[in-house]
Parts: sequence; C-alpha cells; structure tokens
Amino acid sequence: MKKIERAKKLVWDHHQVFQCPVCQHAFSKLSGNSLVCEQGHTIDFNRHGYLHFLNTQGTTEYDREMFLSRRKLLNAGLFRPIVEQVNEIIPEDPQTILDVGTGEGTPLVQLASFRNNKDFYVGFDISKPGITLATQLDVDAFFCIADLRHLPFADHSFDTILELFSPSDYREFNRVLKDNGTLIKVIPNAGYLLELRHLLYGDHNQHYDYDNSKVLKLFKKHYPNASVVRVRYQFELPSSLVTDMIKMTPMSWGKDVHQPTKTELENLNSVTVDVSLLVAKKEKSKI
Ligand SMILES: [Zn+2]
Repeated sequence: MKKIERAKKLVWDHHQVFQCPVCQHAFSKLSGNSLVCEQGHTIDFNRHGYLHFLNTQGTTEYDREMFLSRRKLLNAGLFRPIVEQVNEIIPEDPQTILDVGTGEGTPLVQLASFRNNKDFYVGFDISKPGITLATQLDVDAFFCIADLRHLPFADHSFDTILELFSPSDYREFNRVLKDNGTLIKVIPNAGYLLELRHLLYGDHNQHYDYDNSKVLKLFKKHYPNASVVRVRYQFELPSSLVTDMIKMTPMSWGKDVHQPTKTELENLNSVTVDVSLLVAKKEKSKI
C-alpha cells in the first residue's frame, strides 16, 4: 500500500482521536486525500503521508542534518535503555500512545518493537524535516506536524503520553489524556552528556553544569503524586559517530562554544546518559 493510503487508513480507523485544529470539532469524513470536519474544514494528507495541522510554518532550529545525526546515534542504541524503561512503565494492554516532540521518530519505533502490535501510535513535532524523516520509518505509527499549545487531538483520547526531552503543556496533556492515563516525561539530569558539555564549554559558561530542578518542581506542582525513575549508564561511543554526537545536540550551536581538537574528539569514546523519568497518572478530577 502506498504511504499516503496507509496513513489515510490508519487515521480514519482512529479518527475519533483527532479534532479539527480550526474549530475543535470531530472529523466526520475522509474525502479524497482530505480529512473533513463537521464544520467543513479540510486538512490534506501530503505526499509523505502526514498531516500538517499548523496554520503557519513552525520555527525550529532543528534541521535535517541534525536529525540524521541523531538517528544514527539512536540506532546505535544511545537511548535504548531509556526506551526499555519507558516500556516497563506503560501498561501491557493495548494503548493509544502519543509521542510529544517525536523528532525523526526513532524512539517511538524502538518502543513499538518492545510492545505487542495492538497499540496505536501518534508522534508529532513542530519540525517539518523531523516529521518528513519519521514518515520514512517502517512502523505502523502516524506522524504529524502540530503545535504543542493547541493539540489537534480530542479530549480524553490517549492512554499514554510520552515526552522525551521536549517542552510540555500540562493543560493540553490533561485535556487529551484519558482518566487514569499515564504521562511519562523524560528529562536530563546533571550528569547527562557531561563529557560533551565539558568538552564544548569552559567552566565559566552557564551550560557547563545542568540543573533540572525547575522542570522537576513544575511537574510535581501539576502532579503531586508523580514518581521519579532514574536511569543512568555509559554509552560507548563508536569513533565513527563522534561527529554526529556533537552535531545532534543543541549544545554545539550556542555562542562561545569551544571547537574540539582532533585529539579531544578521539578521546571522546564514552558519554554519560543520565535522565529522570517523571511518571504521573491523570486523576479524574483534573479536567
Ligand atoms: Zn473545523
């Protein structure tokens, strides 16, 4: 089946999960390559098979090159233990899962490989290069471009929301999450990519150290009963991926970044991955 046909079928089979980004009504029919809402607004599937729910082009600094570097690292297993831990937390029965800020989609594909195949996966991002790459993946997931602050999804439509190193909008998450649904937010800890940060920044730079306490505090304010699962390991960095490692992270974009020498790059053979998984259940009273 062609990509666009596969995407249309997947979305229509689960069309109650989506809502019109213009009027927030349900989609009532599929007409040609367009989803049509109850008020007659249309959204077209493009040739890559995704839906573009934004009225304007989103701005993001993440470009195609960065996503390709990121994909190489993820395929080499950089985040695999994190995804394994996420899988441990998600209930076993079939889930409707939303991946927030999915990027080029590899973590969602890895998650799907651990699960039964009865889930429905939706990954969204504001980045067009990211979503275009994600739709090339061989996985039964639907990818779209959408705005975190105005999710094109119906109230109470997801069992699980997963969010890896992305910004959050807790009001929207609570709206689209089912009662008793699970929210898993992965945030970096102080040790995250420590070797890289110390290589790129001097100790006078604000990025030399990283502190997640503000993010953690805000999450606990929204979800006082949240639990925190820490995952920490060393990732052996193959020499062929050192340049991609530097390219995939926003750390290398800022001003005052040290340009590593050849020897420094050769010595970068392992990085620390140190994250916290913030896990919350949506309580019935929330919305
Ligand atoms: Zn509409």
